[in-house]
Amino acid sequence: MENIRYFDHAATTKTKEEVLKEMIPYFTLNYGNASSIYTIGRKSKKAVEEAREKVAKAINATSKEIYFTSCGSESDNLAIKGVAYANREKGNHIITTKIEHPAVLHTCQHLAREGFEITYLNVDNEGLISLQELEEAITNKTILISIMFANNEIGTIQPIKEIGQIAKKHNIYFHTDAVQAVGNVRIDVRDLNIDLLSMSAHKFYGPKGVGALYARTDVKFDKIQDGGHQERNKRAGTENVAGIVGIGKAIELVYKNFDEYNNKLLNLRDYYIKQVEEKIPYVKLNGHRTKRLPGNANISFKFVDGEALLLNLDAKGICASTGSACTSGSLDPSHVLLAIGLPHDVAQGSLRITFGEDNTKEDVDFLVDTLVNVVEKLRDSSQEYKEFASK
Ligand SMILES: *Cc1c(COP(=O)(O)O)cnc(C)c1O
Repeated sequence: MENIRYFDHAATTKTKEEVLKEMIPYFTLNYGNASSIYTIGRKSKKAVEEAREKVAKAINATSKEIYFTSCGSESDNLAIKGVAYANREKGNHIITTKIEHPAVLHTCQHLAREGFEITYLNVDNEGLISLQELEEAITNKTILISIMFANNEIGTIQPIKEIGQIAKKHNIYFHTDAVQAVGNVRIDVRDLNIDLLSMSAHKFYGPKGVGALYARTDVKFDKIQDGGHQERNKRAGTENVAGIVGIGKAIELVYKNFDEYNNKLLNLRDYYIKQVEEKIPYVKLNGHRTKRLPGNANISFKFVDGEALLLNLDAKGICASTGSACTSGSLDPSHVLLAIGLPHDVAQGSLRITFGEDNTKEDVDFLVDTLVNVVEKLRDSSQEYKEFASK
């Protein structure tokens, strides 16, 4: 299709030209193993360490607190399992939320099968946790709090600083899955009292297949993959040098251009929400209206099936998402939308639009015009809508 309009930046983003350009020499000329001592190996090692510094600088960490991984999911696994196994003698209780990404939820479920106790905090109708419920959940067995920075489906941003303060007060490690937040929120791990943080390059215009975990210097965590001594013995496996160069460049660029980029997303988002709310009846914005990612708009269209909506949009070259990309293919409504209290049918009719740097106001106009038509068409063929409308 020649004219693609891409509104699924929470699923992945396009690798920037500038990022790719920096990466290519590490596939071709400088292909040395970063552990080898001859010149092209040392050059690879140097490139890895420069990237580590860029990642550290972007979140106010130090470079020895950054560990490169293969993706956001691996970072979440390493943080949560790593802390759980290394601190078992202190306790077996972990606190997380009901709206985490599967990389956190399924990791916690895995640990539960091994005897760990997991508390899944509720969220309110806008997707926010209760700080009071968090404090009340803490026991003398609690070793880790893992709460996502910003939600990938509804965009809600949690009170991270307050959570960090609670964790610190009780001497419990605080991990945050910041895969959606990096690039869209300014993050200072020291100011926010974050002990561990996960990120993934492909969510901020870097390549797929590379992530990073920040772990504060004195956090005790085990490796979860055995092998060589790479990443200061925390993550075995030959370094993905080109990918690591890519994450370093991508994070540098996204924060260099932070205000312009995020203001753009915010304007597109608010314009889109306003247009939809004005032009289409029976819609509901999911997530918090202001405490949300600048590029995220998740809206339920009542009396409409999300899958049908996506297929109709796809026919017009529009890429978007319903529920979460990771669960599409299953017919269950998203666990996040159920956790914020949506009835099944309203959850099924949700559309997640996530904006990116190439989107324009014209794209939004095209999207809204298409939605007006498609939603009307789908409702006209809905028995439920006919019954509702005839009342
Ligand atoms: C995308 C995403 C992940 C997984 O990252 P991968 O690099 O795709 O493994 C984890 N958490 C959140 C919140 C995400 O949006």
